[in-house]
Amino acid sequence: MSSALVNGRLYRVPERPSVLICLDGSDPAYLEEPLPPLLASWKKNGTWLTAKCAMPSFTNPNNVSIVTGAPPALHGISGNHFYDPATKRDVQMTAREYLRAPTILEALSAQDVRVLSVTAKRKLIDLIAPGRGGRAFSAEENGCDVYSPEASYFVLDAGIRALEAREADLIYLSTTDYVQHKHAPGSREAVAFYRGIDERLARMDALGADILLTADHGMNDKTKPDGSPNVVYLGDRLPGAHVTLPITDPYVVHHGALGGCAMIHLDDLDREHARSALEGEPGVEHILSREEAAVELELPADRIGDLIVLAAKDAVLGKRADDHDLSHVARGLRSHGSLHEQTVPLIMNRRITVSRGPLIELRNWDALDLLLNSARA
Ligand SMILES: [Zn+2]
Repeated sequence: MSSALVNGRLYRVPERPSVLICLDGSDPAYLEEPLPPLLASWKKNGTWLTAKCAMPSFTNPNNVSIVTGAPPALHGISGNHFYDPATKRDVQMTAREYLRAPTILEALSAQDVRVLSVTAKRKLIDLIAPGRGGRAFSAEENGCDVYSPEASYFVLDAGIRALEAREADLIYLSTTDYVQHKHAPGSREAVAFYRGIDERLARMDALGADILLTADHGMNDKTKPDGSPNVVYLGDRLPGAHVTLPITDPYVVHHGALGGCAMIHLDDLDREHARSALEGEPGVEHILSREEAAVELELPADRIGDLIVLAAKDAVLGKRADDHDLSHVARGLRSHGSLHEQTVPLIMNRRITVSRGPLIELRNWDALDLLLNSARA
């Protein structure tokens, strides 16, 4: 049986159509009882686990971890956005040249596996495209409104069409978390969205595909009792430092560029002085040095800050108050990026045996290993 060796692991060429779904922002709280019918049947007869996502718990690092089977320390994508020391500017991390590792999708595509990647947001397409012989497109480029459930449905419908036409062996589908940013688990809108997801999973399931569903990160409420966003403005606490917010992307309605992780570049400021200025600040939970974060969070040391700040569960981190337009999140903010959004679902439509030692935690970047390599239980 042929396989591809990618970033230290072997991945088998799929024998059956295989679908990996990254359901953006799907905190496990969205998948609690009562479940829609197909997910309820998977919970009973399939595989129903959780895993930890890559840190920071943002979209780009995690989509890339899932398609490389590796942490950001290896693949190099440390955020949606980072401070490029070469140009001294904050830039989007969406271009292919930022990727330091091959993807499993392109390695299998090179072995004549027919790979299809579909995303909601255009920003991800270069990072997850399967390259030679494969196909990739986004809902956004096809005229979908990314601020709607429809963009995510478009992605899943594209997967269904490819299965019906038998034109792909391995399909990677990555949705958008607009609904999860705007609607809490159990709300009418969230329940309706997951019902729509469930109907589409049922069609894929009926077409005989092996399906694994995971997420890039979870989601929590970040709102004060008065309904306004609970923001710690790090730039106002540390004048002279450069604060980079790695959640930043073009989709400001989702989160207003406010998330649970910030990178601080100190220039001439003293690191211990800066650290003690933030310690004990309400809403600030952890402050790590560059060296600590590279080891503990498996991040590329040259693409993070001198300090990495992680927020408490109910807070987000900002630059200076003047830098943020809160109009899109004035009526409430749900976001991610901290350790509190690290737990994600890992669900399959068949039962597998997961051969992990008791001390080894599953990660969302184990998804393609589990989908392609695991034996049926
Ligand atoms: Zn996301």
